[in-house]
Amino acid sequence: MIAEVIVDISTAEVDRIFDYAFDDESVRAGCRVLVPFGNRRIEGYVIGIKERSDVPAVKLKSVAEVLDDRPVIGQEMLALMRFMCERYHLRVVDALRLFIPAQMRGGRIKELKKRFVRVADEYVAKDENTFIRAGAAAQREVFAFVKNNGEADTAYLGREFSAAAVRNLIDRGVLAVFEKAQRRTPYAAAQGKAAEVTLTPDQQNIVQAVCGAAGQTFLLHGVTGSGKTEVYMRCIADTLARGKTAIMLEPEISLTPQVLKNFRARFGDRVAILHSGLSAGERFDEWRRLLCGEARVAVGARSAIFAPLTDLGLIVIDEEHDASYVSDSNPRYATVEVAAFRARSNGCNLLMGSATPSVESYHKAETGEYKLLELGERIAGRPMPDIEIVNMCEELRNGNNGFFSRRLQSALEDCMRENNQAIVFINRRGYASFLMCPSCGYVAKCERCDVSLVYHRDEHALKCHYCNNRYAPPAACPQCGHSHLRQGYMGTQRVAEELKKMFPHKTVLRMDNDTTQGKDAHLEILRRFGAREADILVGTQMIAKGHDFPDVTLVGIVDADMSLHFADFRAAERTFQLITQVAGRAGRDTKKGRVILQSYSSNHYVYRLAAHYDYRGFFRKECNLREVTKYPPFARIVRVLVTSEQEEEAFRVLKADFDDMNALARENNDCFAYLSAMKSPLKRIQDKYRVQIIARIVKDFDALLPKIYAICDAHASGKATCFVEIDPSNMS
Ligand code: ADP
Ligand code: ZN
Repeated sequence: MIAEVIVDISTAEVDRIFDYAFDDESVRAGCRVLVPFGNRRIEGYVIGIKERSDVPAVKLKSVAEVLDDRPVIGQEMLALMRFMCERYHLRVVDALRLFIPAQMRGGRIKELKKRFVRVADEYVAKDENTFIRAGAAAQREVFAFVKNNGEADTAYLGREFSAAAVRNLIDRGVLAVFEKAQRRTPYAAAQGKAAEVTLTPDQQNIVQAVCGAAGQTFLLHGVTGSGKTEVYMRCIADTLARGKTAIMLEPEISLTPQVLKNFRARFGDRVAILHSGLSAGERFDEWRRLLCGEARVAVGARSAIFAPLTDLGLIVIDEEHDASYVSDSNPRYATVEVAAFRARSNGCNLLMGSATPSVESYHKAETGEYKLLELGERIAGRPMPDIEIVNMCEELRNGNNGFFSRRLQSALEDCMRENNQAIVFINRRGYASFLMCPSCGYVAKCERCDVSLVYHRDEHALKCHYCNNRYAPPAACPQCGHSHLRQGYMGTQRVAEELKKMFPHKTVLRMDNDTTQGKDAHLEILRRFGAREADILVGTQMIAKGHDFPDVTLVGIVDADMSLHFADFRAAERTFQLITQVAGRAGRDTKKGRVILQSYSSNHYVYRLAAHYDYRGFFRKECNLREVTKYPPFARIVRVLVTSEQEEEAFRVLKADFDDMNALARENNDCFAYLSAMKSPLKRIQDKYRVQIIARIVKDFDALLPKIYAICDAHASGKATCFVEIDPSNMS
């Protein structure tokens, strides 16, 4: 028989199937194997089995070894692999690698086995004085311990008694050695009992609608604090009760121990957790438990959509609008599309929820493709916090050029006086942003990437956030010689310092990329804030999501505009989502919340609508705008990004692609709303020139996409790389 093997090397040259002969029956589709390749042996995945090969018999090599005793990639996942390769133009191996934890490849991590001993059968009934000398006290102790406990871990015995005595007893056959697999449990401490809540009638209706359907996609639009999580849990419980399995996705940053604890409390060992915070061993074990059916619910971030579960009964995507669900580096894929594929394969429901659904999803709900479910009120009728908008231009005219408006200052004072907690949200990173000359407008930029550099005060350095290059800050403007360079916008650190000055007796915590470098650093910050070890939490996007702090009564949004001025068609949508999410942190318990939003564009419709929690109003306005301008959901954006170390090569490939794209657009002239070639906004990253084609396609997208991939393949060269992105959220 012949195995069709994909070798575990990601290059364009070997992105195809290789045939290997085998006669070992354990070779099956979905197993990993070792195969001879060139002059070495490498790992590969068997993706198919066939009778004969077109490779001449003399050239045909054989499978050297089978690595799995059962398939680790099921039939459904092999079909998903083919779908993803076609849809996203992935190399087969890159798709397969998504399905298997990295730790498993190359056999680096194995099941954790521990050496145990028990008393050997023939010694159980014997008098120990006949085989242990009177003076061998250590041996007696070890023997007695093992006999009393039935079995014991050899490492423990060596530590507590004497390793030499243990070895002696094993060597003489008194103790028999055996191995025991040991499970590495992530968040082992996160146990607890599930709180019993009675569903509200609205929640009840929604759970019934979902559980009574099959093969449907639902969009649950529920304001923050409306009890969406409880709905997900009930639907999952129902799925398990029907003997099926479930996947529950959350944005990475929302997967706090609290969330995981809730799942553990509800579903116990039936839950497996998959996310980047786990150790390699934990990840491996959790994945194995899903594969062998021991765990039946996978909870995790984006990549948990590839959980090796069969017989799926439900897929839940919480915060479906979150940008982290779209992978924007290789391998590129959209989690929602993958989830839809798996739901289709299993005939199961897909439940997506958000307080601020993406415009695309809500549009699908309006046109009937998704079924819309709504939770319009917070649990227990708790009011949404009031959002007050402060015009910062006016503050400046009144002589206040600090970070905080007078309104926010006095609100902070009230909040601190009443012994409540406050969150101050900043949409930036670092001490201050770019370095600018107020006299001539010069801004320090990265020599390799052509982006503004960010000033980091800790290191007194300018850094490029794209390539990590660092530069010494110039003492004077290199362009005009002006000696008072200004640091642009504020960062978390400066705001935190300012707050410490304002409230010397209060504790201020800071959470951003710089303070959360360690594995669990951000969790530690949240834990401390939750335990009331601090009064004010200053942070970036990271603090916007999912955290439940009952004593937080004030949220200050210091520079709301930052995300509004991004060159991204979703800028308004992202800003609306961000404000709603951050505001949702206030007043979640019995205390009423208040939100103060500072802006230099305070009349922008996004702020007005967000302040009224008018999602539908926002959606209407945004939708109309996108229909007129032909943006998603009324078009699909395709970006063809060409990168090369040689500028001429990048342009040569770009031109060839562009000529063919133009021809394609002429043949399908009612399908393209826009087509243009240009330099990318970031003209160079890590010494590579970047040029791009952008197209907006209003019709027949699914049919045109393979043709666009074919065009890119036709002109690819060894010296230029070409990526195709669909609806990219980052066009830089
Ligand atoms: P969301 O996910 O919509 O933001 P949550 O599910 O976190 O909302 O619910 C907000 C709070 O209300 C949580 O503390 C949750 O335990 C509680 N809760 C949810 N449903 C109920 C219910 N039916 N009765 C009482 N409390 C509930
Ligand atoms: Zn750079």
